[in-house]
Amino acid sequence: MNVVRNFNELTVGSNVKIFGWIHRMRKYGKMIFVDVRNRSGIVQCVVKGDEIKKLDSVLEESVVEVIGSVVERIKKNPNAKLGDIEIKVDSINVLSKSKPLPLEIKDPEIIKSTKEETRLKWRYLDLRRPEVMQSILFRAKVARAFREFLDAHGFVEVETPYFAKSTPEGSRDFLVPSRIHAGKFYALAQSPQLYKQILMVAGFEKYYQFARCFRDEDPRADRQPEFTQVDIEMSFVTMEDVMSIIEDMVKHVVKSLTGKELGKFPIISYKDSMNMYGTDKPDLRIKEKIETIGNMKYIVSNVDDDGILNDLSKVKDVKFSYKGKGNFDDDLKKIPKSGNLIAYAKFNESNWESACKSLGAVRSIIGKYSNLLKEYRFAWIVDFPLFELNDSGEITPSHHPFTMVKNPKMLDDPLNALSLAYDIVLNGSEIGGGSIRIHDENVQRRIFEILNMNEKDINERYGFLLKAFEYGVPPHGGIAFGLERFVSKLLFKENIREVIAFPKTSDWRDLMSETPSEIPKKYIDETIVPMIKNLKDRHLVK
Ligand code: ASP
Repeated sequence: MNVVRNFNELTVGSNVKIFGWIHRMRKYGKMIFVDVRNRSGIVQCVVKGDEIKKLDSVLEESVVEVIGSVVERIKKNPNAKLGDIEIKVDSINVLSKSKPLPLEIKDPEIIKSTKEETRLKWRYLDLRRPEVMQSILFRAKVARAFREFLDAHGFVEVETPYFAKSTPEGSRDFLVPSRIHAGKFYALAQSPQLYKQILMVAGFEKYYQFARCFRDEDPRADRQPEFTQVDIEMSFVTMEDVMSIIEDMVKHVVKSLTGKELGKFPIISYKDSMNMYGTDKPDLRIKEKIETIGNMKYIVSNVDDDGILNDLSKVKDVKFSYKGKGNFDDDLKKIPKSGNLIAYAKFNESNWESACKSLGAVRSIIGKYSNLLKEYRFAWIVDFPLFELNDSGEITPSHHPFTMVKNPKMLDDPLNALSLAYDIVLNGSEIGGGSIRIHDENVQRRIFEILNMNEKDINERYGFLLKAFEYGVPPHGGIAFGLERFVSKLLFKENIREVIAFPKTSDWRDLMSETPSEIPKKYIDETIVPMIKNLKDRHLVK
């Protein structure tokens, strides 16, 4: 008799043994219908006679072993994947009993009203729910498709340290105090950026890694403190080379997962994207674009949903109107009408960006009420500004300080300089980004100067990279994909936690294992006390 692990391989007429969880049990006269579930699906098993006794006081979600024969169902269930067959049970054995459940598994309707926190506390039960299980399995298939493509195209998988030196991604580091070197710290890698560039210096030529990245940013709905990047770097390439191979890779991933063939991805400059979509991550499924006439930007739409009015009233700095309600004024007359004018904003040089963003927000609202198709619209965004001003008015890199400028002459006017950086966008989210790197010492120096970094800062942070660059560095560039974001977008799920087996809550706790947690006294004595003593000796803490 065959042990069948993939229920889709059950064939009528065979004698089989299967294992799984009792998804649902129904008594029907002298029979019990037991739906047995495993990772591959759910199959109905019909238990009769003496075997029924074995299910006394057994609850759903208990683990069973079933031996029987696969038969065609008399009453087929067209709604179930395996609704044409069932197993006539010769013997059923309970391998492990379940207690009454704290979380609904079998009814997808009930779970909709369950708080996410409850799902995360009981994550191992939540993961049993077919929908959640399928998302995690889908993620594994996406990862496999990436690997397939990269392996076939000569990329080598190399691991780089998680215990690293502070990296240049510009977020706050998670720190790990060193026990052996009291007062010194590792930073958990924000990305493998510097290491992957050094791998190019070493001659690996084409590298990839599924790298866990750690960033101690302020929590936000679509962020996690740790996430996975598909990190890629190549030598002797131009920006066009990188974009072309990466586009092929994305097409391969989408084709393997969904069977869909994608056309060429449009390439849109940052400036055009802001002007037309009011964002650098446009959702191209929304057909409305921002129009410009003179110093006025506006958006016209035939969207029909009264709910929109409330959303529109929350957008800053725009005049809006929907079915005659809103706050339009006389300026309106200057705009030619080619449909229902929904919103407009005046702009000048200094508020161009915020006017674009406000109308971009209006455009997203229109999208929300537009019944967007479940299709994938990718785009490349290029020609980003190389630098930007931070909240304190200081000049900072828009990406990281190793991003190549489009033309070195542009550095004479830094705030207008463009970079050789590129983002890949899917349905309104940035799913990946990268750049051609600087391999010319003079350009790198100019950039550090512009960033007001002194020799000491540079050496402390990046000395090891710059030293490596003194020994023959190939021109190189790369990209990194946010795996969770990509997978959730492919599944049309807004929440990245749905594609992470053990995600943190929005305030970054793991409710299942109760992390973060206090630590045993032993660790405090061995690591924390010497660390504080060292910092005190150096007058860094009182
Ligand atoms: N390290 C970059 C990031 O994490 C990606 C890249 O430039 O390849 O955004």
